[in-house]
Amino acid sequence: HIDEQFGVRGNYEVQEIATTFNHMVNRLAEQEENRQQFVANVSHELKTPLSSMKVLAESLLSQEGMPVELYREFLEDIRNEVDRENKIINDLLVLVTMDKKEQQLSFEEVDMNQLVESVLKRLKPLADQKSIQIVFESFRQVRCQGDETKLSLALTNVVENAIKYNNEDGEIRVTLDADHKNLYITVQDTGEGIPEESIDKVFQRFYRVDKTRSRDTGGTGLGLSIVQKTILMHKGTIKCESQLHEGTTFSIKLPLNQVTQG
Ligand code: ADP
Repeated sequence: HIDEQFGVRGNYEVQEIATTFNHMVNRLAEQEENRQQFVANVSHELKTPLSSMKVLAESLLSQEGMPVELYREFLEDIRNEVDRENKIINDLLVLVTMDKKEQQLSFEEVDMNQLVESVLKRLKPLADQKSIQIVFESFRQVRCQGDETKLSLALTNVVENAIKYNNEDGEIRVTLDADHKNLYITVQDTGEGIPEESIDKVFQRFYRVDKTRSRDTGGTGLGLSIVQKTILMHKGTIKCESQLHEGTTFSIKLPLNQVTQG
């Protein structure tokens, strides 16, 4: 009887170990697939500017007596592609460093009102180019424990998108609030919006709703994955809501255990 009992328990334990092992193998397989997909995407994205540069350089070489104006235009295009390649590599480096571990966060006390204001001030000239008005509504003074540089970069990315994907004469409304648990930032624009089926994908690496449009505006498709990563490292959340042709709202929430209100 005792042997039977042990037998049953033994079987059960073996099954449990087998299930855990299975889960681990599946997770590793999934991670490996993601890694391969990422490497494929990186190669593709890095090759695109290179191909353009090659075509441009070859055109320059093959045409004799080309007017100086045209010559300059081609060279400017080549320079833009170099800038683009640089931007992709920089964004990739940021992502890869963030992937390593969480210790890169250097927590300090951050004055959120000041942070938002300085980000908006820096981006005002960009907004002015499209006659976009930025309104900032702050409901209270909020201080938080966070990595100021990374949070500032994250907000810059979201507001930059709100400008890039907005219409001429559009509007951007930024709000900052907090309750006893969290701090909340929303960035709402009156731009082109995002199709419903793409909303969940915008945080994926290299995902762009409209590759051509995003390319024209200098996008790499990495910005929002960096933003999401930053927010997650601060144990917060970011979500996106959008109405096509009406506008998009990004809502950031950071938990209170790293936040103290002033
Ligand atoms: P990108 O460098 O292309 O801007 P992001 O990761 O920042 O990359 O954004 C991914 C995609 O999400 C963009 O290419 C764009 O299609 C879409 N997107 C992001 N923000 C907005 C916005 N405010 N309005 C409309 N579309 C947006």
